Amino acid sequence: MRYQHNGKDEYFDLSGRPLKKSFMRMPIEFARISSRFNPRRKHPVLGTVRAHKGVDYAAGTGTPIMAAGDARVSFVGWQNGYGRTVVLDHGNGTTTLYGHMSRFGKYKTGSRVSQGATIGYVGMTGLASGPHLHYEFRVKGVHRDPLTVTMPKPDPLTGAELARFRAATAPAMAQLKRVEGVRLAAR
Ligand SMILES: [Zn+2]
Repeated sequence: MRYQHNGKDEYFDLSGRPLKKSFMRMPIEFARISSRFNPRRKHPVLGTVRAHKGVDYAAGTGTPIMAAGDARVSFVGWQNGYGRTVVLDHGNGTTTLYGHMSRFGKYKTGSRVSQGATIGYVGMTGLASGPHLHYEFRVKGVHRDPLTVTMPKPDPLTGAELARFRAATAPAMAQLKRVEGVRLAAR
């Protein structure tokens, strides 16, 4: 069912649960994995062994970087090693970090962003041997591998919003039931 939610058309199942994924494992297009999550990795610039706490996606400078999920922007600025960095707070203790950006999107600390919004562009600021996105996924402060972490399910509609969804989708539901009835009768 298509239903307008927070000013956008979104898709829900019949019980009011969003069909979209809550997070993107790869918040960038036209990129390839150049370094995986690895607790003991030799750093390509420093040459020392230290944990790689995220996934690197190699891409051309200027490639847009997307918000992995709906969030509030909790940091926009420079972080040692990661250069131009954005951190998003998705609620329920989940945060994501995006490093080495060449420049930022239009969002400031405190802004709300929707999944897929451009929060910055690929670059190689900080300690980077080439243009790439360094992407981290943290649950309650603990780094998790974005490629394998079990993503939380998106919250279903509740309360008044669920009642509105039911009212708005009632005609389509009735039509589905009619079609179903015709098919059963034809058997
Ligand atoms: Zn990295």
